[in-house]
Amino acid sequence: MKKKETASTIILLSFLLSLQELLHFAFPLPPSHNNQDEEQSATLRPLEQNEEHVDEVHCSRERSRKAWNIIEEHLLPFMEIENYEVSTQCRLHPNNDLFRDQEQHKIHLDINHWQCGYCRKSFRAENFLDKHFDNRHSNLLNVSHGKCLADLCGALHCDLKMDIKSRKSKCKPAAAARNKHLCESLADSCFPINEGPSANRLHELFLHQFCGAHSCTGKQKPFSRGAARQPGIFYMASSILILMLLPIFYVIVYLHRRESRNGIEVLKRISKAGRKSKPL
Ligand SMILES: [Zn+2]
Repeated sequence: MKKKETASTIILLSFLLSLQELLHFAFPLPPSHNNQDEEQSATLRPLEQNEEHVDEVHCSRERSRKAWNIIEEHLLPFMEIENYEVSTQCRLHPNNDLFRDQEQHKIHLDINHWQCGYCRKSFRAENFLDKHFDNRHSNLLNVSHGKCLADLCGALHCDLKMDIKSRKSKCKPAAAARNKHLCESLADSCFPINEGPSANRLHELFLHQFCGAHSCTGKQKPFSRGAARQPGIFYMASSILILMLLPIFYVIVYLHRRESRNGIEVLKRISKAGRKSKPL
């Protein structure tokens, strides 16, 4: 019985240790402030040298990124199904995103390890890499007119995704009408209805997905046609669950087998004793 308890304790301890490792991997602690300060000071130093570049760009990198994420989540999957590519005239075309090239030169090696794809310098967080791009590689930006994806945020509902507007904030009919107009012009330029059935279907989808919700009636919700699946999150959650349940399953199986083995031995002893006692 003691042996059984010891074995169970060892299995449970190893399970708890592996669980701790797993949780550390899944929910890593944020980097210490000291490290962040080091990174920040490292990235701030060149800022003084290249300040003239920073003032030239009047486009929010963060909002542009959010707009791109929305396109990627709520539009690109449907375009892939239709095998449709927008023309460069469409403002949603990757070439019309000022920051696209820089965003594609972000190398995310680990949860706290980002690398610049141009010069291979490492950073602990994405925002430090953003600052590095602003300071060191802003000369690579094509700052020509009409390439700021953040300007389309009104049409693409960036504020909703960024939780900027509270749900109770009043809807302004003029702003809603402006966003609807921008939204519909995007649908017309990116998916011209005279360009065939695919463009037609995507035009209709775009109106439902983005434009219909630009009204103060609140009848239609944005992204009504859904989004691309995010297998990463579900995969992570199910993996954690399986890894947590697996050791428990093994402990149960081990204990059950021990119990049944003991039971067989007891039965054997009883039957032996029975055979011996028969001649008497
Ligand atoms: Zn760099």
